[in-house]
Amino acid sequence: MSDTKIEARATLTCPMCGFKKEEEMPTNACVYFYKCSNCNTMIKPKEKECCVFCSYADRKCPIKQQEQML
Ligand SMILES: [Zn+2]
Repeated sequence: MSDTKIEARATLTCPMCGFKKEEEMPTNACVYFYKCSNCNTMIKPKEKECCVFCSYADRKCPIKQQEQML
């Protein structure tokens, strides 16, 4: 039944120091806080974005990916 592909991994770029890290995104929740492992900044989503991945990663979060498929 599922030929729709949700990509759960994304590379998140810290807006403070530019550090890139590949992270696994939860498929059923939005990640609102993310701590950069390089500069220890607590990253929050931009205004109107649902999570840090939508704001700073190279890929939208699984929830948004799902919405786009509908
Ligand atoms: Zn950082």
